[in-house]
Amino acid sequence: SNARIGLIGLGTMGAALALNIADNGFPIAVWNRTTATTQEFHAGAGDLAGMITPTETLEELVASIAKPRAIILMVPAGQAVDDQIAALRPLLDDDDLIIDAGNANFHDTNRRADAAGDLPFLGIGVSGGEEGARFGPSIMGGGKRAYWDRVSDVLNAIAAKHDDTACATWMGEGGAGHFVKAVHNGIEYADMQMIAEVYGIMRDGMDMAPAAIGETFAAWDDGPLKSYLVEISGKVAAATDPKTGKPMLEVIVDAAGQKGTGRWTVIEAQHLAAPIPAIEAAVVARNLSSQLETRQAGEALFGAAPHHLPHDTLTLGTLEQALMAGKILCYAQGFDMIVKASESFGWALPLPEIAKVWRAGCIIRSAMLDDMATALGEDTGRNLMFAPRFATLLQENHNALRQVVAQAALHGLPLPALSSGLAYFDTMRTGRGTANMIQGQRDFFGAHGFARVDGGSGHHGPWGS
Ligand code: NDP
Repeated sequence: SNARIGLIGLGTMGAALALNIADNGFPIAVWNRTTATTQEFHAGAGDLAGMITPTETLEELVASIAKPRAIILMVPAGQAVDDQIAALRPLLDDDDLIIDAGNANFHDTNRRADAAGDLPFLGIGVSGGEEGARFGPSIMGGGKRAYWDRVSDVLNAIAAKHDDTACATWMGEGGAGHFVKAVHNGIEYADMQMIAEVYGIMRDGMDMAPAAIGETFAAWDDGPLKSYLVEISGKVAAATDPKTGKPMLEVIVDAAGQKGTGRWTVIEAQHLAAPIPAIEAAVVARNLSSQLETRQAGEALFGAAPHHLPHDTLTLGTLEQALMAGKILCYAQGFDMIVKASESFGWALPLPEIAKVWRAGCIIRSAMLDDMATALGEDTGRNLMFAPRFATLLQENHNALRQVVAQAALHGLPLPALSSGLAYFDTMRTGRGTANMIQGQRDFFGAHGFARVDGGSGHHGPWGS
């Protein structure tokens, strides 16, 4: 009973996390539903095997952990988590801590935290995929602060480091950590989609070969767009299929998968009336991508769009600038949603700390997040696009985004996320919009009343009957 912590679920993420914990000097006990997996895991743990206690029953797992115990669950979100908690609780003491480290929907985490009552429970979001889990993920914690403090030494040790700061932060009570992870994933969807859209312009509009596209992304990864997603996009574009010798991108089907976290973010944004159009567009784009046969029928019916851009219409520099503007706008939307949730759920979600925890370890890590952390710290509560540094960047780059969206529209290249980013920007700089017409229509058919520019609300129009 000397393990510092226990872990259930030795799948991709759980196995990597367990090795990371052991590697950082914490003895760990592990259990997996399928015992053979536990044995294989332990046999493959190499030098770390001595730090790991493999167990074959939950009772054995519990008996292997020092009190008060802490046990991480790394099983698929949903019923599996509820089932594991139900199986584990009767074996635990009242002050033992259960930590759900999977990708739970934060509403489920709120419910589980409520159901736990005084029994210790944490929900933590872990980002960074298998590599992150093994060598340093970004960790977003939720639940009672005192429970976080009980395991923060382990979590800080295994987390990614930005300079010397651990990317592990307590976000707030209940589902706060899983909520922040969901917004992270929403931003991830939009960032990926915008990169894919720019790839489409290079491929179809500029006739660039995958290798040249790869070089372009690699060059951008040396500039202001420096980020994990731009870096790996360059590597994906540059890769060759060992089977056919063709560029990998040519052999990959253009139908994107998803596990639902982006969708949760979009659904929650609607409940919160938080406008995140670029993230919504990215989720919609994935849904549309899977309608492969319908799109092929559409091309047969309507004909392929002209696509090819006349020479010199857009430069690679313009594309880079457009991607910068789009990226700022999608992050601004994500952070704005966090502010709305904070107000609505009674959390005090710390925006600069969130930007900081995303600087290393996670999928959306980027040079720009460093500046975002600074800007959000200086200018709390304001939409990121109005923070001086980012307002300047948008002033410098929004015309490039406009050129790209306009040329793409003229040549039939679909840019759902970039164009929605531009519409968001233009809406946010229009002091007098067009919702006066909406209010007129609503009053006309429903007597909903409207506010007048010269004062007062609840007015009605002279529409007659
Ligand atoms: P895997 O499918 O690789 O592993 C799932 C693990 O859960 C296996 O150990 C499996 O055991 C166990 N399991 C499955 N169902 C049950 C059940 N009903 N009861 C008990 N154990 C069960 O999943 P991942 O490691 O990829 O994902 C785990 C969690 O981490 C998920 O919530 C996922 O969303 C999240 N996550 C994943 C990331 C990734 O990049 N993969 C990134 C961030 C979070 P068995 O061997 O018996 O099948």
